[in-house]
Formats: sequence, C-alpha cells, structure tokens
Amino acid sequence: MATKSERKYLSSVANIGCILCRHLGFGTKDAEIHHIRRFGGKRSNAPVIPLCPEHHRGNTGVHGLGAKGFEKRYLLTQEFLLEQTQALLGDSTGV
Ligand SMILES: [Zn+2]
Ligand SMILES: [Zn+2]
Repeated sequence: MATKSERKYLSSVANIGCILCRHLGFGTKDAEIHHIRRFGGKRSNAPVIPLCPEHHRGNTGVHGLGAKGFEKRYLLTQEFLLEQTQALLGDSTGV
C-alpha cells in the first residue's frame, strides 16, 4: 500500500512525461511509472522513472526489449534516466 506522500511522489514523476521521449527530443508524452528493479530489494523500494506506454511495455520498451536490450538500443542506462528524472523533480519542486 502506497502512502499519501508516495502517491504524490509517483504522480509528480508521471507528470514529467516519458523521460526517454524527452531525452530523444520527442517531446513529453503521458507516462506510466516504471520501477527499476535491478537494485534488488522490494518493488516498493525500487526507484521509479516515467515512461510512455510504448517505451514501458511496447516492443521498443524496457519490458519488451529487456533492461539490457533497452540500454543497448538507446545507448543509455536506466540509472541515467533516473538521474534525469530526479533532476527534473528537483527543478519543479524546489527541493
Ligand atoms: Zn516514450
Ligand atoms: Zn516497468
């Protein structure tokens, strides 16, 4: 169960729009929350990034390609996208 502040955090992450589309210059698209699982531990503790449905679950997405295939295709890592996400969150919330 997500707490109120967790839900607020997740919605502000989703509000950024797809972090990969943004990086690729496709503009901002409505995003879903993707949990980066490779750090291990529980899903609820996993860091999150916003990805559009295609880049999340589609054939060219992180689940469609797998984490390794995804990173190879776009020449970046999920950690890089996480850093971008956190930088944007910092900008928008003043943290
Ligand atoms: Zn996208
Ligand atoms: Zn996901």
